Amino acid sequence: MCDLLHTVTTVLVGGQVTGPGGAPGRRWIGRTYAHLLLPLPYLTDAAVRLLDDAVTAADGWRPADGPAAAARVWRRRTGELRLAVLGRYPLIVTLGVRPGAGAAGRRALRRAADAALAVDGRLVGDTELPHRLASAADRAAAAADLRAELTAARAARTRRTCGACRADSGAAATHCDACGRRFDAADDAARDAAHAAAAERTAVLAAELDRLAADRPMRATGE
Ligand SMILES: [Zn+2]
Repeated sequence: MCDLLHTVTTVLVGGQVTGPGGAPGRRWIGRTYAHLLLPLPYLTDAAVRLLDDAVTAADGWRPADGPAAAARVWRRRTGELRLAVLGRYPLIVTLGVRPGAGAAGRRALRRAADAALAVDGRLVGDTELPHRLASAADRAAAAADLRAELTAARAARTRRTCGACRADSGAAATHCDACGRRFDAADDAARDAAHAAAAERTAVLAAELDRLAADRPMRATGE
């Protein structure tokens, strides 16, 4: 972590580092950038606010357009800072400063990185990124499955199933929509048990989604 922070800090603060192998005098003049992992499910309104507040805190930076699901741009008189979403559950973004932004761009990047660290996020290094993105695809798929099951569990609580014909009616119906039979005490008991089970499942699924979003996978060893 310390090594990683140092590496990224060097890029952020210095803007220029020595080239591969540390050859003296070889300046790195590419874009200044950082990858951030935030303990949030995706680019939520809260994530946008966090980054907006950090970037616009100084040097006249302003968001260039409204919140988007996968990208964000901030501009000032002489520069541009771009964000792209790379992963979800948890949120992984890359932030890049266009060359013309100069010191103001590096300061904005530093503030964004500090904001991420302040909410228990962290920096992701270049060497770790491919591994992190590979697992991000699996995690996004797992989250999609959980969300689908959550939707089904919530929907189950809005209906009741007829014990005779197995058709569904509204949760508060007194008679089956399909066969017209009046629900009896056994039907009510079955409905209540089914709703309680669905409520329990809803809570478990919601907690699992929260865990997936807030999980802060550490660097794999050997990276
Ligand atoms: Zn029925």
